[in-house]
Amino acid sequence: MTKTDPGPTPPPNSRPVALITGGSRGIGAATARRLAAEGFDIALSYASREDAARAVLADVEAAGARGLAHKGDLGDPAAVLALFHAVDGAFGRLDVLVNNAGVTAPPGPLIDAEIDDLSRLFDVNILGAFVAAREAGRRMARGRGGAGGVIVNISSVAARLGSPNEFIHYGASKAALDVLTRALAVELGPEGVRVAGVAPGTTLTDIHAERGQHDKPAQVAARTPLRRNGTAEDMANAVAWLVSDEAPFVSGTTITVSGGL
Ligand code: NAP
Repeated sequence: MTKTDPGPTPPPNSRPVALITGGSRGIGAATARRLAAEGFDIALSYASREDAARAVLADVEAAGARGLAHKGDLGDPAAVLALFHAVDGAFGRLDVLVNNAGVTAPPGPLIDAEIDDLSRLFDVNILGAFVAAREAGRRMARGRGGAGGVIVNISSVAARLGSPNEFIHYGASKAALDVLTRALAVELGPEGVRVAGVAPGTTLTDIHAERGQHDKPAQVAARTPLRRNGTAEDMANAVAWLVSDEAPFVSGTTITVSGGL
């Protein structure tokens, strides 16, 4: 064997592999832990919180799964490609993509929005998710040598409600994901790939405090029929069902998990 010979290609991972973008905190972290318990090996991406990513990785490994944590800003398409390259190198297969990483922008009416904030939000929530779906589809499609798989897009009730005076930009970005779910399911169904979504209602994660909206979860809980907010585990449960063998005929649809709101 010469020095430049990479040697034999290692066999693909024996356990199914799930990639969860934004898996270091909140809904993504709960999903990583849940899918590890369901028998998946886990690749998670994060933006900057290495401490949080390491904590999730430790839990995933304690559950008997192999784990990979990859840092990168998914608003940059090159970082999305680097993430998939890292997953290829670590596992050699991909069975599930959870397109979870997402951001909000400062709340307020659209006429007060800054262009940089709009651009950033659409880059992460739409462009990043679309490039990730493309990369996952290329690897999963049977016509490209893949073995099929499942893509789950994390949407929001804001896609339906629009969130006027607060988050039109965010709601619109999630509506784009709902279109991706419906239409990519049509393109990839014959390729053995299911595409589905989860639309959370207000869920208890860091995302609200990071925008200074400390009181928002309690306000929404008060007008939610089930009188509470969602938990990250509520959302992880829905993702776990969608990617499981119990949902083999579910594709092209988004499940709302919002306590009836
Ligand atoms: P969160 O607690 O703020 O966690 C966000 C996760 O995404 C973290 O892992 C973060 O990494 C990562 N992330 C953020 N920006 C990123 C970027 N540019 N590149 C790569 N990773 C990035 O969020 P969450 O509340 O769990 O939300 C998860 C998803 O659910 C989002 O798509 C959100 O829009 C959606 N959602 C949330 C709610 C809610 O009420 N919480 C409701 C509806 C929909 P770091 O840890 O490194 O920062």
